[in-house]
Amino acid sequence: MPESYDVIVAGLGAMGSATAFQLARRGSQVLGLDRLHPPHTFGSSHGQSRIIREAYFEHPLYVPLVQRAYELWAELGKASGQRLLLQTGGLMIGLPDGVVVKGTLASAQTHHLRHELLPVEDVRRRFPAIDPRDDMVAVFEPRAGVVFPELCVQAHLRFAQESGATLKFNETVTGWSDSGDSLEVKTAQGVYRCRLLVISAGSWAKELIPELPVVVERQVLVWFEQHAPQLFSPEHCPIYLFEYERNRYFYGFPELGTGVKIARHHEGSAVDPNLVSREVHPEEIKSLHELVRSFLPELAGKALEAVVCLYTNMPDEHFLIDWHPKNPRVLVCSPCSGHGFKFSSAIGEIAADLILTGRSKLDLTLFRWR
Ligand SMILES: Cc1cc2nc3c(=O)[nH]c(=O)nc-3n(C[C@H](O)[C@H](O)[C@H](O)COP(=O)(O)OP(=O)(O)OC[C@H]3O[C@@H](n4cnc5c(N)ncnc54)[C@H](O)[C@@H]3O)c2cc1C
Repeated sequence: MPESYDVIVAGLGAMGSATAFQLARRGSQVLGLDRLHPPHTFGSSHGQSRIIREAYFEHPLYVPLVQRAYELWAELGKASGQRLLLQTGGLMIGLPDGVVVKGTLASAQTHHLRHELLPVEDVRRRFPAIDPRDDMVAVFEPRAGVVFPELCVQAHLRFAQESGATLKFNETVTGWSDSGDSLEVKTAQGVYRCRLLVISAGSWAKELIPELPVVVERQVLVWFEQHAPQLFSPEHCPIYLFEYERNRYFYGFPELGTGVKIARHHEGSAVDPNLVSREVHPEEIKSLHELVRSFLPELAGKALEAVVCLYTNMPDEHFLIDWHPKNPRVLVCSPCSGHGFKFSSAIGEIAADLILTGRSKLDLTLFRWR
């Protein structure tokens, strides 16, 4: 007889590790499976740092979700005894009528969030590492900062296991089927049964749900050397996101010990996650430095490290957290269009709520299957 569980979680990265933890702590019999051993560097949750921000320019509906995520990160940090989140404040920079500035202000005003609208002179004076163009403005939000993805995934996995979840690594889910009474989940090593299945396989999710409308996008992260440690220290340099041209973005971090990490948001090529080139080419580093150097004048062109990471994009760049349209026992919760990490603690809770109670307290309208 195959081993049988209440819930199987396929993929134990950001979303799957949080889901396995939230289900196990509430008494479900959970099996978590991953083709590798997270945290690893082949999916979407590596690279040392992720931005967390509250005045969400993408849509005000994300604000309650990130507020719950902040609470859960704090709980997880306390339980693990590790710093999972570093509050630096955040600057959302662009043209006054651009997507980033307008959207950030809309979220801040809708949810009465603390924020300041800063002219460029104030940005330069208060945060001298950052030099926006004269035609730009910035919204400063004090609660923004950095979450540490590898530590977060590790903590979720540890507490999932300690709460009773069975976790199996280096075991790829190869397919699933509905036998009427239960679901059968096949892996390269065997077959398992469950009542409900969560698919949180990140950039590989389409292999398990071919009808998913996602596109995987290759992204490059570069850690540049800097000439001004004081200016780039987290005490003096917040996280920043520039809309440097209409609908074109790059973002970066303070110096966190290994250089200043910078990346474009989108504009990468569509790829197959099994065939993607993991090598970062010198021209990619050069072109990123050329893009950012006028905005971050103390950044040296020398790259200390560069890695490839994968976005799993929905066509409208929102998330997908919903039941499979043809099978109400299969929950999909990982396509997050390159901005999901900050929410993963809350997405784990949402997934557990949907599985255990059929509903979530949070508004998921934006995240329906579409
Ligand atoms: C460069 C970059 C920068 C980003 N910056 C930010 C940011 O600043 N802030 C933010 O909030 N978000 C950011 N994101 C987005 C965020 O990191 C992702 O939304 C999030 O990490 C996705 O988590 P996931 O669980 O869907 O995927 P992953 O963490 O990749 O997990 C998927 C897991 O599924 C496993 N798997 C796949 N197929 C199978 C299978 N068949 N069987 C078993 N296991 C399988 C994989 O091995 C993997 O461990 C960024 C992403 C990238 C790539």
